[in-house]
Amino acid sequence: MADLMEKIVSLAKRRGFIFQSSEIYGGINGFWDYGPLGVEMKKKLKDSWWKSVVQMRDNVVGLDTSIVAHPQTWIASGHVSNFSDPMVDCKKCKRRFRDDELVKDEEDPKIRAEKIAAMKCPNCGDGELTAPRLFNLMFKTFVGPMEDASAVAYLRPETCQSIFTQFKNVQITSRQKIPFGIAQIGKSFRNEITPRNFIFRSREFEQMEMEFFVHPNESDKWYEFWIQERFQWFQSLGVKKENLRLRPHRADELAHYAKGCTDVEFKFPWGFAELEGIANRGNYDLTQHLTHSGKDLSYFSEETKEKFVPAVVETSVGVDRTFLTLLCDAYHEDEAPTTEEGENEKRVVLRLSPEVAPIMVALFPLSKKLSEPVHKLEHSLRKHFSTDFDESGSIGKRYRRHDEIGTPFGVTYDFDSEKDQKVTVRHRDTMKQERVAIDQLLRYVSDNVTSDNLKG
Ligand code: ATP
Repeated sequence: MADLMEKIVSLAKRRGFIFQSSEIYGGINGFWDYGPLGVEMKKKLKDSWWKSVVQMRDNVVGLDTSIVAHPQTWIASGHVSNFSDPMVDCKKCKRRFRDDELVKDEEDPKIRAEKIAAMKCPNCGDGELTAPRLFNLMFKTFVGPMEDASAVAYLRPETCQSIFTQFKNVQITSRQKIPFGIAQIGKSFRNEITPRNFIFRSREFEQMEMEFFVHPNESDKWYEFWIQERFQWFQSLGVKKENLRLRPHRADELAHYAKGCTDVEFKFPWGFAELEGIANRGNYDLTQHLTHSGKDLSYFSEETKEKFVPAVVETSVGVDRTFLTLLCDAYHEDEAPTTEEGENEKRVVLRLSPEVAPIMVALFPLSKKLSEPVHKLEHSLRKHFSTDFDESGSIGKRYRRHDEIGTPFGVTYDFDSEKDQKVTVRHRDTMKQERVAIDQLLRYVSDNVTSDNLKG
């Protein structure tokens, strides 16, 4: 199955979804750039989350906060003292490892340390390894011209802390009453010791997080509610149910303040791994910021006349991990399907939901002589859908090119189109073809955009 990852990484590069960052300088480990198709798909993915979490609800509002926050934020949140991974260095070749990379499938850090003490460096073969040492994952920087301790700041390692520090401003200005949520999409940075698995674990990534503030007596109910909502969202994007699962954390995995945490996991080519975390966090976060800032972050209920510090249910998912999920889940190779133009070759197809497909409709003039009316047609569709115009190669080749990037509809304009004002619409998944009147095309595509219809 590692093979599948190679195919996906290669397709992502070849077709302009994702490039290695700074490739001409040899790349920089743990950083990636999204190309023309990648950026379209990523935007659609974020729009889908925003629609599902914010737009469709009257009790969740949005926020967009700065990446650099007051350093006190990270002291209050516990990140300065606790946000670290145990790492091990080879004294000879200087290679650095995460301890759980050296000793896999062992939950207990003490046993991992014992096993590491008895081993040699797997990189150079004979170097001695240091004992595991904690390594803080936050990127440090300086704010202003002085590079001294008073100017130290951090790039945020998660987006949610500013949701907590802005809780009061948002609650007052939006006039929301508890229970309500605050959602944010944005970049986060973690100096991961071993970035790996393409965009699964990188050093700069995007998160989509939502903090739902509730009365402490109601947190269990809302925790269950959000687990189901979030699990459903991945399925609404077409991810196959058998590739998804919910994994409740064991008691020993939970932070001391947390009442519960459940991961949505996806079956990546190397096995099930975390995609999203949903956590029942109690009122730890607001209490920490209240204590450190000295500001009142409690809530007064007009109905019950009760004043309390709200509890929080958090949903936290990576944009990039979801992107990788969609690519892995959508990737298919059809062995010699009966195809257009008698071509009988293997077909690579991304069965992406039209909601996230980078291009919705590709338009093909059968001959270059027919380009002009097709350009016109494309312009008329652009207001509604992302489109592409492709006039090179055989029609079969053009279909293949678009199958590989997940374009749901291919529209061919031929010499008959001149006479009957109809075009051939070809469906990506079923390869079914239909003649559709040009003046009905917009309607036709709109009516057929759900993946169910596409599968025929
Ligand atoms: P992991 O155990 O995989 O490091 P985590 O439990 O530290 O993840 P959280 O802090 O819960 O992750 O972050 C929430 C989500 O943010 C994760 O489920 C994941 O989708 C995403 N995420 C976290 N770290 C990274 C990373 N280094 N690269 C890409 N996405 C990430």
